Amino acid sequence: MSASETPRKPRGRQFFANPGPTNIPDSVLLATAHQTMDFNDPNFLEVYDGCIAGLKQVLRTQHEVFLYTGSGHAAWEATLVNLLSPGETVLILESGYFSDSWAQMAKDLGLEVQMVAADWRRGVDIADVRAALAADTAHAIKAVCVVHNETATGMMIPLPEVRAALDATGHPALLLSDTISSLGSLDYRMDEWGIDACVGGSQKGLMLPTGMSFTGVSAKGMEAHKTSRLPKFYFNWSKMMTRRHRSFVGTVPISFFYGLQESLRLMLQEEGLDNVIARHTRLARAVRAAVQHWSGNNGPQFFCLNPARYSDSVTAVMMPEGHDGDSFRATALQRFNLSLGGGLGPLGGKVFRIGHLGDLNEPMILGTLATIELTMKVCGVPHQAGGVDAALAALG
Ligand SMILES: *Cc1c(COP(=O)(O)O)cnc(C)c1O
Repeated sequence: MSASETPRKPRGRQFFANPGPTNIPDSVLLATAHQTMDFNDPNFLEVYDGCIAGLKQVLRTQHEVFLYTGSGHAAWEATLVNLLSPGETVLILESGYFSDSWAQMAKDLGLEVQMVAADWRRGVDIADVRAALAADTAHAIKAVCVVHNETATGMMIPLPEVRAALDATGHPALLLSDTISSLGSLDYRMDEWGIDACVGGSQKGLMLPTGMSFTGVSAKGMEAHKTSRLPKFYFNWSKMMTRRHRSFVGTVPISFFYGLQESLRLMLQEEGLDNVIARHTRLARAVRAAVQHWSGNNGPQFFCLNPARYSDSVTAVMMPEGHDGDSFRATALQRFNLSLGGGLGPLGGKVFRIGHLGDLNEPMILGTLATIELTMKVCGVPHQAGGVDAALAALG
């Protein structure tokens, strides 16, 4: 075989190893194919109320959850405009492409952005967060924003340590966290960790189509909302609270809730949330064993250089010098029908990302890893052969 062989339409199911959107279980797909209903129909309201209760279980919160028709970006925006006023300062922990995008959004919305700078490969030093908070004796910082799981780099930021930095400095800022690629795959505890607002989306750990997102809000967050002056209409939580659904200004996307009801049933009843998280931990270990093995012979390397913060839902793999990640991904897709994630922003072409969250099991992960190794062979990317055996050893 050679990399230049004419691309053909591959047979068999596509192996989808992106970190979002993710695979949708067949039962969830079927459940979303629901005939239109009035969103005030008592039968739908029962499904809806069950979904809100289940979503709160996944977030591990007793507090408010507001939902929007829109992807994760919509919930980012909703969260900022409902909590803050023009010119107020937010402290954003740099983690990678997603922290920088959230920061750019905050600036465009008229907020002052202070960054805690970090090397994307090593991640933020919590001592720097504490120092920034301690230096802010006037309490100009109104919110601290953290991407819990930086999907671009494959790094998880320990939220309890950020909470501890706020507590240690007695700083009253709200703690906002993006849990878009961690919810339903990594341990996440909104109330226990003292998170004031958390942003989630439908198409990652929740295994749904793209297009619905939400914010969980603490009592302290709701107090801050009352005085927030950034302009809002569709996203206005106060407006939402006057409605039966306590969410959605406008039509409720009913088909999402039939899908969500099923994905929550899979997660909370059939598998159990703790088992969902344990499965992600186990599969991530297999992926990392393979990547670690391939890194021999001047092979590809972990982008994340902080093993204590390795993400259990996505691994970013840095290509060896002289090898392009995007052409590697194109070969995996065209030759073998394996879809991998690409590098985002400045990492474009430099890394590929293995998504290992959502509806996945051992055969799917092993198939993905074997196909990555095959693609390295086909593309002439240096590596130490035998990564799949290393993954098997990690699983066995
Ligand atoms: C996917 C993702 C987003 C963006 O969400 P969209 O649904 O694409 O708008 C934001 N933050 C993180 C950490 C993500 O993984």
